[in-house]
Amino acid sequence: MKQVTVVGAGLAGCEAAWQLANRGISVTLIEMRPVKMTPAHKTADFAELVCSNSLRSDALTNAVGVLKQEMRMLNSVIMEAADAHRVPAGSALAVDREAFAKTVTEKISSHPNITIEHREVCELPSGPVILATGPLTSDALGKAVKALLHEDTFYFYDAAAPIVERDSIDFTKAYFKSRYDKGDADYINCPMNEEEFHRFYEELIHAKTADMHEFEDEKYFEGCMPFEEMARRGEKTLLFGPMKPVGLQRPDGTRPYAVVQLRQDNAAASLYNIVGFQTHLTWGEQKRILALVPGLENASIVRYGVMHRNTYICSPKVLKPTYQCTLRDDLYFAGQMCGVEGYVESAASGLLAGINMAKQLLNEAQIILPPTCVMGSMAHYITHTHPDYFQPMNANFGIMQLLVNVKKKDRKEAYGKQALEVMESWLPKLT
Ligand code: FAD
Repeated sequence: MKQVTVVGAGLAGCEAAWQLANRGISVTLIEMRPVKMTPAHKTADFAELVCSNSLRSDALTNAVGVLKQEMRMLNSVIMEAADAHRVPAGSALAVDREAFAKTVTEKISSHPNITIEHREVCELPSGPVILATGPLTSDALGKAVKALLHEDTFYFYDAAAPIVERDSIDFTKAYFKSRYDKGDADYINCPMNEEEFHRFYEELIHAKTADMHEFEDEKYFEGCMPFEEMARRGEKTLLFGPMKPVGLQRPDGTRPYAVVQLRQDNAAASLYNIVGFQTHLTWGEQKRILALVPGLENASIVRYGVMHRNTYICSPKVLKPTYQCTLRDDLYFAGQMCGVEGYVESAASGLLAGINMAKQLLNEAQIILPPTCVMGSMAHYITHTHPDYFQPMNANFGIMQLLVNVKKKDRKEAYGKQALEVMESWLPKLT
């Protein structure tokens, strides 16, 4: 029997182990809890949800809802447990977290092809291995991964600015231009007059920030300050920092008092991130404050800004869309560690990594799902984004390709319908 080591029994590791074991592969799943705990996990259960008990939207007009449906089509252990322990939460899929984790633990532990070991892995195991140790990967293993991948392809913090859909920007106010017209007009600029800036500034300095976890001290502020913190240092700080207006005249030649700049975030140019706006504001406050920027009043935010401890690799440099490492054929990465963001996304990446590892060991062709379904779009995004700007990403329709031309109001439904049809067509190869 072929043998694989999976490290980390979180959302991704459990799903990867399940997919491998169901394909006749013998799996050793190594989890360090309860021998060694992470700073956020509280139990020894597998697939513990460390924060919210919501797996977010279950609607087929929402990318994460569609992703869940794609996973159900592929016999996902995480979705089976989640559906079994659903609690009322409107159109979201929230779960009884304890019952959910216990069910996953029970299903994984009782699988005849899976052996469990509880210990910290400090070196990269030899032989076929899937690393799924998550955002709170232990230090020793983090160092071993960093040594393999090199300094500039491994990160311990996530300091991300919000990302918005280009289609939702009001171009009667915003315009393309690069500072002093150097190079191509790559940036989208949202100009403010003095009055608009003052209003924005006053609201920003009083906006609510998200709670920090005990293990996330404020050390990172020295290297990468949130823009609200910068603003609190004085009204002019932003004007000499990320909102500097010089060289960014409006198309009519007038000079704005302040400018918010957005930079292209994906190859399809459907997503733009807000330059220098890494933030620790709550999600609700991010939405409210950004709506005060001319041109972004109705911006659709596909990924909110975050500043938290996170361990992830620079997937565009070191990973294939199969989740296989480019530097070592028998090493795969899955979960938050490879730059997907969220419970469901982590589990989905583990699912595809598990299938592809099984295919490799069984000498079958590996699967690269197209970016026309949600699961494929995530694998595509994390391996094709520009490495200099790579940051973890949630599932969203902005990174998916839509093959038909439909009116904006019908687009979400079209994305959902297409994704499920595409996944259906791939099932014979995936199962
Ligand atoms: P995990 O679920 O964390 O699993 C990794 C496992 O590896 C853990 O069980 C860990 O104990 C184990 N491990 C680590 N190092 C080793 C080692 N060296 N040897 C053996 N085992 C090891 N996402 C959301 O969608 N909603 C949220 O509300 C949310 N809140 C979050 C709050 C915090 C504090 C953090 C850090 C992240 C949060 N996330 C949230 C993001 C992310 O989706 C989750 O962390 C998710 O659990 C990631 O899945 P994973 O499988 O990659 O990692």
